[in-house]
Order: sequence, then structure tokens, then C-alpha cells
Amino acid sequence: MTRFLKLLIRNRLAALGGAVILAVVVLALITPLLPLQAPNVTNTADRFIRPFSPGHLLGTDHLGRDLLSRLLWGTRLSLAVGASAAVIAAVIGAAVGIVAGYFGGRIDNVIMRLVDMLMAFPYILLALAIVAALGPGLMNALIAVAAVNVPFFARNIRGITVGIAGREFVDAARLAGMGHGRIILFEILPNVVPVIVIAMSTTIGWMILETAGLSFLGLGSQPPQADLGSMLGEARAALIAAPHTSVVPGAMILAIVMGINLLGDGVRDALDPRLRSGALTRPMPATSVRRETVPAPQGGGVLQLADLETRFEIGPRIYRAVNKVSLEVAPGECLGIIGESGSGKSVTALSIMGLVASPPGVITGGAAYYRGDDLIGAPYRRLRSLRGDRIAYIFQDPQATLHPLYRVGDQLAEAIRVHHSISRAEAEDRAIDLLTAVRIPNAESRARAYPHELSGGMRQRVGIAMAMANDPDIIIADEPTTALDVTVQAQILSLLDDLRRERGLAIIFITHDFGVVAQLCDRVAVMYAGRIVEEGPTGTVLDAPAHPYTRRLIACVPELGQGRRRLEAIPGLPPAVDRLPAGCAFAPRCDKARDACTAGDIALERAGARAVRCLFPEETLT
Ligand code: ADP
Ligand code: MG
Repeated sequence: MTRFLKLLIRNRLAALGGAVILAVVVLALITPLLPLQAPNVTNTADRFIRPFSPGHLLGTDHLGRDLLSRLLWGTRLSLAVGASAAVIAAVIGAAVGIVAGYFGGRIDNVIMRLVDMLMAFPYILLALAIVAALGPGLMNALIAVAAVNVPFFARNIRGITVGIAGREFVDAARLAGMGHGRIILFEILPNVVPVIVIAMSTTIGWMILETAGLSFLGLGSQPPQADLGSMLGEARAALIAAPHTSVVPGAMILAIVMGINLLGDGVRDALDPRLRSGALTRPMPATSVRRETVPAPQGGGVLQLADLETRFEIGPRIYRAVNKVSLEVAPGECLGIIGESGSGKSVTALSIMGLVASPPGVITGGAAYYRGDDLIGAPYRRLRSLRGDRIAYIFQDPQATLHPLYRVGDQLAEAIRVHHSISRAEAEDRAIDLLTAVRIPNAESRARAYPHELSGGMRQRVGIAMAMANDPDIIIADEPTTALDVTVQAQILSLLDDLRRERGLAIIFITHDFGVVAQLCDRVAVMYAGRIVEEGPTGTVLDAPAHPYTRRLIACVPELGQGRRRLEAIPGLPPAVDRLPAGCAFAPRCDKARDACTAGDIALERAGARAVRCLFPEETLT
């Protein structure tokens, strides 16, 4: 709640709107306590007194009534009517929308067609017709305004509910045996309340205007009772002779509606969870970079990371997701990055091409050299021309990365045409070649399939074809086989292996499975809590792990045909990266930890091709 208020206040326009509304509401609330003249007492001798006259701060109207008093009482009435209409419309509209969206089918159809009928009328006309039927009067104006706004809420909320009603947690509630009533109240409602609040905060201004409009036409509040609309209506005749009688209520309406709309927009922005973690800004196209020194490139390789540091800065907390990571990969080589979930593998991979969302992500140090060119902080245009062209990504879930409504062949063709100006027909031919290259049978007919028509393994092949589309130098594969079953996983791995041998691709393969590393990778880097703790050629690391963490990770892999062996889970959890312990982050879970391990920073000791960050390694590296 306090975070919400902070965000709201940081948005200056919203804060201004909020201040105006707060002032108006407070004035309206304390109106009965103020020493005002009676709003409805006429005194024709004092007609049209100018503002700032003694006794009448805002002057008087055509019947000599005090304008200040009428304004405050009128504002009170207008706010009350507008707000009640909004609440009534929101409650009825949301109820109708939730019922229609949740039950669907015929109920939905009947309700929505009724709503459509109401929406087919221009809505001031509809309000006029309702008031005409009920007779003039403020109460009837309120009913009319509420009634014409019900369809708006109903449509809006129905749309949201349809989306939520199909989600897994609602199915889970059904499976748990909950009734419709409970599901609607406890599963659906909490998810739509923010939307209702937002819709209300942005329409309440309209409702006040509509009520004022009806009163202006003489259909709302009846003389002598003042509301802002009727004050304007009565002042119309004297617009030229005594403009202040119009300006006073007009200015108040303007202030209220502007204030509410600015505040409403601010509320909407501040409630949007995507904006909550950062400032009120959209994520930037590339990760923001804030580094003091740029490490020079050492060694070779097509891609080389030097002391890369990426953090998430969320409020006062700093999450060190990637902490001085140095890696390199040569053409035709496959480098594995392995570690438990949350160890910073994905963030490392995404930092290279500036794909970490900013805010909250910031690259605070290090460099990523691609063929000698630093990519960190490179201009967005340069990054964009490399993304998907020279350096391509494959993600875990191709279902999420493929567009559900386009045929896979078209999506492949598009990926090519983003970087190469070739004709559509050529791109389509190339797409079919790619599908053949990733061993999809009947590539030509498969190219016309939609993602949901393919199996998981098939989709991941399309994902790989997509990454291969522009013959990249480097493929960064982030757990591409985690969602697949083992036979498909083996096929995908051998496919990647062949591709790299045929085309001299460099692959960075991220996984949490040593079995996969053993099948595919030449070298492996082990990550823990954002740091590399061990690195070396796969064979030697597997045979003789140097870091206790590596040893325990390897012990977690079941081996077939090796007789009975105890599978050892690593007790405990990786540390939260916003509260890293001093020294070795693995020490609390390590059976060999001694006092020295937690005393201070531990360096990555290199010896030949291997490196380890441990004071008491399992193996002395030579
Ligand atoms: P993994 O090794 O499983 O791929 P990640 O690289 O995704 O792990 O995450 C590394 C750390 O960064 C985790 O502790 C995670 O909580 C944190 N992290 C990742 N993305 C964000 C984010 N958008 N905001 C805050 N923290 C994040
Ligand atoms: Mg990950």
C-alpha cells in the first residue's frame, strides 16, 4: 500500500490531480460546518453582485443567492451523485460481467446481447430517455447515469473474467471441489477488483459530467436545489451580463474532472504490476549500463565475457545476480554453464545482448567482447543488428517464444527477412531448408503448421531452426531441453552437436543437468550464487571435480547400470543474492567448510585449462 502511494506521488500530474480532488472532497465534507449563508435564500435586491464583494466572496446569482454557498453545496451534491452512480454502475456491471464471463455459453450470450443492445444507443440519448420515462429529479438522473454505464463495466469485466476463468488455478479450485460461488468470490473476484477500481477511477469524472449535463438540461436537480449542472443551466441566460455566475460552477467542474482523470491515470499506472518493480517507465530496449572501468579483452574466442556484473536494483535491495563472471567460447566449441535454479545462468546469457529488463536490471561492470567488439553499452542499433543474426538465443519454452497465430514457416521467414533483404519466396524456401536441416520430416507441409499443431520436441526444433535462420556465429541455448522428455532431449542434443560441427557454431549451453553437459559440452563452467566456482574441460571436471559443489552436483545425477548408489541431494538452498554471505557462498551447505571459508573473498585459482574458487578443493589442480 505504501509502495502504491509512493509510486502515485512520484507521478507529478497524478499527485496534482490527487491534491485537487482531496481539497474539493474535504471542502464538500466540511460544507455544513462552514459559516456560509443559506444557499437557497433569494434576495432580489442583491442580484448579480460581482465576486470579491463584502459578504459575497464569489458574488451572487440572478436571484441574489450567495454563489460561494451554492457552489460548495452544489459540489457536495454533484460529487455524491457522481460517486454513487459510479459505485452502482461498477457493482452491477462487474457482477453481470463476472457471471457472463465465468459461466460462458448461453448465459454469456444472452447477457452480452442485452448489453450490446444498451450500448447501441448513444449514451446521453439513453440517459435522456430513462429520465424522461422516470420523470425529472436528481435521484432519477443518478439512476439513468448509472444505468448507461453498466454495459461499459460489464463488457470490460467480462473480458477479464473470461481470461481468468480458463486459468489453471481456477481448474485447480474446481478439482478441489469448490462451488461456483466460492470460486467466483475467492478465485476470480480478487483478480478483477484492481480492474474494477481502475475502470471506476477513470470513469467517475465522466459520470459527474453526465449528471451535470442532465441537471443543465433541467432533468436532474430541481430548483431551488443547486448542483453544478443546474447552476450552469441557470447562469446561461446571464452569460454575457454576469459571466461570473457561469465561470464559478464551470471552473469547479473543470477542476474536478481534470483532477479525477489525472488521478485515475496515475492510479492505473501505479497498480500495473509490470511498472511496480521499477520507476513509472517502460522497460528500455537494452539493459542499462553503469560501469566505471572497462576491462580489456584477454585471450581469444568469438565471445568473451570479462568480469561481467549484472544487478537488479529494486527499491533499497540490490540483487547481485551475476558477479564478475569471466568466460570465453571459441568457434565450434560448446561451453556448458551449469548450476542450480537461481544461480544466475539466464541473467548472464541475457546480459550479453542487453536483454535483461531495465529497470530493475543494471550492468554494473565488465565487458562482453564479440570478435573484439564490446557489446555492453553498445548502441541499441548495433545490438539489434546482432540479435538473432550473429548471436541467437534458444529458450526453454518454444510454446512461449513462437507466436501462436502465425504459421511456423512464416515466422522463420520473418526472422530471416528482419536481417536480410530477400524476397518473401526466397525466405520461404530458406525456411523449408532450415526445417529440413533440423530434421523435421515433411518440412514443406510442416512449414504451414501452427505452433500448437506440433509436439514439444518438434516445436523446439523450430526454435533451433529459428536460431539458425541467419547462420549465426554463436547460439546461446538457455535450458532448451528442460521441458522435453529424455528421448527427444537426446535427439535435440545430437542435432545441436551436428549443427555445431557442420557450421563451426559456438554454443553456450545452459542447463542444470550434468548428464546433458557430459553429452554435449567441451568445457563446462559451474555457477553458484552469481559466480563461477569451477571451470574446465568436461571430461576432467566430471572425473575429478575440484569444487565440493561440483562434486555434489555430479552426485545428483542418477547413473543407469551402475548398481545401487545413493543419490545425494544437496541439503539447504542457494543463498538469496541480495544477502550474500562473506566469503564462499556455498560454505553454509558445504561439508568441508572451515572458518577461513567465510572470512573473505575467495579468488578463482586458475591452473592450465581448469579453475576453481575454493580454499580446500577436492583436487589440487595442476
Ligand atoms: P537461473 O540460473 O535459474 O537461470 P537466473 O539467472 O534467472 O537464474 O536468476 C538469477 C538471480 O537473479 C535469481 O536470484 C533471481 O531471483 C534474480 N532475478 C532474475 N530476474 C530478476 C528480476 N527481473 N528481478 C529481480 N531479480 C531477478
Ligand atoms: Mg534460467
